[in-house]
Amino acid sequence: MRIAIVGATGLVGRTFLKVLEERDFEITELYLFASKRSAGNKVIFKNKEYTMEELTESSFDRNIDIALFSAGGDISKKFAPIAAEKGVLVVDNSSAWRMESGVPLVVPEVNPETAFKNSGIIANPNCSTIQCMLPLKVLEEKYGLKRVIYSTYQAVSGSGHKGIEDLENGLRGEEPKTYPHPIVNNCLPHIDKFLENGYTKEEIKMIDETRKILGIPDLPVTATCVRVPVMNSYSVSITAELERDFDLEELKEALGNFAGMVLVDDVNSNEYPLASDATGQDKVLVGRVRRDFSTEKGINLWVVADNIRKGAATNAVQIAELFRGI
Ligand code: NAP
Repeated sequence: MRIAIVGATGLVGRTFLKVLEERDFEITELYLFASKRSAGNKVIFKNKEYTMEELTESSFDRNIDIALFSAGGDISKKFAPIAAEKGVLVVDNSSAWRMESGVPLVVPEVNPETAFKNSGIIANPNCSTIQCMLPLKVLEEKYGLKRVIYSTYQAVSGSGHKGIEDLENGLRGEEPKTYPHPIVNNCLPHIDKFLENGYTKEEIKMIDETRKILGIPDLPVTATCVRVPVMNSYSVSITAELERDFDLEELKEALGNFAGMVLVDDVNSNEYPLASDATGQDKVLVGRVRRDFSTEKGINLWVVADNIRKGAATNAVQIAELFRGI
């Protein structure tokens, strides 16, 4: 395939390259785009040197099959339609297109079939949403979902280079430049902008995207999204009320058997999903699986994944893999 990466110098962009190489994705041509600042920089991919180009309106005037975008919403809003118009299939990591009707929002283990109903743009869901879709798909299919409550613990790498700098500089006693308060020694219940209804945009993204991916437009979902002083990988507490009762052991087995997910749940040995274990790999780790005794058919889960890999780059590459040989 002829592949382009837009935002190739970013945290997600560089991870695209790593994941494509690891998965031995067959690439005949590779084009790397970033801002003017990075144009001319050299990058090695599979022992071959590539030159970073400035992204412009003519960047897609050549034969490209798939463009993986991760340069922010404004760039995607402007350049994804230009690419799609020229016959390039765009897999976009930003939030620009996710809720547009006619744009599939895809987690390959969960709703791969929707990817083929695209008009040139496919959206990669929000990083915090992606990891929650795997366990929720299992719960929905086996027991039916009645209500979902998310509480997230999101690493600073989710804010790109700038988030990492705020934590690193903060540890040296410097003031934050990206977050409104120091991230060192704090949990900030504030990710993305506040909206009039008191939620943040990140929380509304999780709510809306969950409904779209699972295909349940009226599913009651609520979320509290929190930035924590962790370098990488997101942890999410999920409480779900189910339509039908369950056997706890059967439910655990179903979670552990689902593609892309690993059950890490042996509290007697202090084993449960950790951000440090999730980092650098592509699986979604699920554990602390237990009944919610405050309601009749409720379950609590602790779900952890690498936000740059499964939450962004790997999920997008998995989407591209759906089109291999087509
Ligand atoms: P990042 O590390 O800050 O990288 C931003 C990238 O965008 C860089 O390659 C940058 O190029 C490029 N860029 C900026 N302005 C540009 C322009 N005018 N033209 C072309 N390229 C431009 O950010 P990131 O974490 O990789 O995130 C990138 C996107 O992925 C965002 O939309 C983000 O929401 C999404 N995403 C991030 C995560 C995550 O966990 N980090 C997860 C899912 C989705 P230069 O180096 O040349 O400036």
